[in-house]
Amino acid sequence: SIAQMEKIVSLCKRRGFIYQSSEIYGGCGGVWDYGPLGAELKRNLRTAWWNTMTREREDVLGLDASILMNPAIWKASGHVDTFADLMRECSLTNKRVRADHVEPQDGVVMKYSGATSPTGWRWDRTVSALLKNGEHIESFRKRIRALIAQNAGEAAGKPEEIELLNEEKIDAVNGSVDFHPETGGALGEARPFNLMLKTYLGPTATEADVTYLRPETAQAIFAQFKNVYDSSRVKVPFGIGQIGKAFRNEVTPKNFTFRSREFEQMELEFFIKPDEAVEIISGEVMAWSEGADLSEPKPNWGWQMWHRYWVDQRTKFYEGIGLGDVLEYYWQTPADLAHYARACVDILCEFPFGTEELEGIAARGDFDLSQHQKHSTKSLEVFDEELKTAAAKLTPEQKEALIQKKLQSLPQAMQIDTDVVTQWRTWFERLFKGNYVPHVIEPSAGLDRMALAVIAKAFSETEKVDEKGKKEVITVLRLHPRVAPVKVGVFPLLKNKPELVAKAREVYALLKKHMNCFYDETASIGRRYARQDEAGTPFGVTIDFETCGEKGPELADTVTLRHRDSGEQERVKISDLLGKLLPLVS
Ligand code: ATP
Repeated sequence: SIAQMEKIVSLCKRRGFIYQSSEIYGGCGGVWDYGPLGAELKRNLRTAWWNTMTREREDVLGLDASILMNPAIWKASGHVDTFADLMRECSLTNKRVRADHVEPQDGVVMKYSGATSPTGWRWDRTVSALLKNGEHIESFRKRIRALIAQNAGEAAGKPEEIELLNEEKIDAVNGSVDFHPETGGALGEARPFNLMLKTYLGPTATEADVTYLRPETAQAIFAQFKNVYDSSRVKVPFGIGQIGKAFRNEVTPKNFTFRSREFEQMELEFFIKPDEAVEIISGEVMAWSEGADLSEPKPNWGWQMWHRYWVDQRTKFYEGIGLGDVLEYYWQTPADLAHYARACVDILCEFPFGTEELEGIAARGDFDLSQHQKHSTKSLEVFDEELKTAAAKLTPEQKEALIQKKLQSLPQAMQIDTDVVTQWRTWFERLFKGNYVPHVIEPSAGLDRMALAVIAKAFSETEKVDEKGKKEVITVLRLHPRVAPVKVGVFPLLKNKPELVAKAREVYALLKKHMNCFYDETASIGRRYARQDEAGTPFGVTIDFETCGEKGPELADTVTLRHRDSGEQERVKISDLLGKLLPLVS
């Protein structure tokens, strides 16, 4: 709900996870800063991705490419010509919105200027209500109030005065109005708006110097494919992974960090053999069927199996950071697919504002490398000795059968197009000699969306009665220990007992070399636990009089280890602490 989202946004600011960029100057649309806890959280997610996707695998290598590149790359990739969203402009509010973000009722006549949460966050919101033809303005106002109350709830603070936009026009609308047939709103025609952020590279700052901040990290992987391939002695199938910033001039950045203009992506391009090469080498191509074993890649896997394999791998990754039970999958239909894509599945996640895309996993054929080969005029083919040897054993009839199979799989119009047929024959000739442009499976995830997803999933509230019998709502961020920014809070029971403080400092020094810890000696121990609960810290270590041997030698040098989620407390020897905690947090 919106109220839940307000609470999350407020917690993020209060505890130093996420701040509005340039806040003291009134902010900057669609960009966000990560505070001390947010920076650690992001770093943990980044490390988890990097380790699972590259380090722990023998078949994936890492890359760290520049954000600015030769603009020819964006021409080849299609971004210059087609990386656009349809945008509409509302004639009443002059607000520009992404056409597919427009609900039938949105952007029409009414907006409230945003509820202000207790911490000062404001949300500009268009209220999803349409002035019905002939509806009395007062009854419309009433409906809007009810909607706001329903959506914003108590926690969002009292909504400010509801602002009616263009009251005279509304009055006119009250008589009769032609609403846009698709959007229901008085919105202008949809027109494309390129999302790339333009900049100049070079001293003249003229059109000749124009380049772009990369709108995705993937293209650098394709552009450097040959260098990585030649310098790493790898064989297809293999992948190149990269984490880095991407920029999109989103028409309507919204939902906190979910849709931002500057964000971080974690992308893998996993290069595979074309199915025809697999068939020549293995005699068969394994396609996907329900229940197929995805645990170990096999040499006869076709693209479908690889695609499913990566969906499975990514699912396991999300399970490992505590998102397993909030995932959904959307398999794109032929109508959704980009023209070059063979399949694409969106991994969706439940956010307070709805179930939305977290990651896309696409089977992109050889589109990307072929485009770059064409535009750069440099060969991006690989040579496969095994393929060449296997192809040499085929009879001419067997080769022709393979070609015919391919041609017959094409649409009718292409089968009779001599250029197309010639291109395929040339392609097969190269293939039989062991040469091909690899195909690719692309799991592409957003780091900021992932961070928001884990925070939203972890957010929970419980009611507690304090020492004075007063009820209070306690926020607990049940972050998975692997991603939690602070792993352990270290607390001396009392701060005015030097022996407790000295021991606690000793434990802190021991742990902090291995994990992010937080030392806290102020306020009651209950308060300190609560503060760490809100920051998502999974463990707390308390140094008390038992630790100092005051309650007998058998408890000396033991501490209380508190588990955030179960509330369980156990006695652990200081010498066992590291061994116990490390596997839980890494
Ligand atoms: P959407 O449909 O939500 O605009 P997309 O399909 O255009 O996303 P891709 O181009 O496939 O997204 O990018 C891959 C991933 O990058 C997305 O799944 C998402 O996690 C992340 N991402 C894309 N755009 C943004 C953005 N504006 N803000 C934050 N993350 C983003």
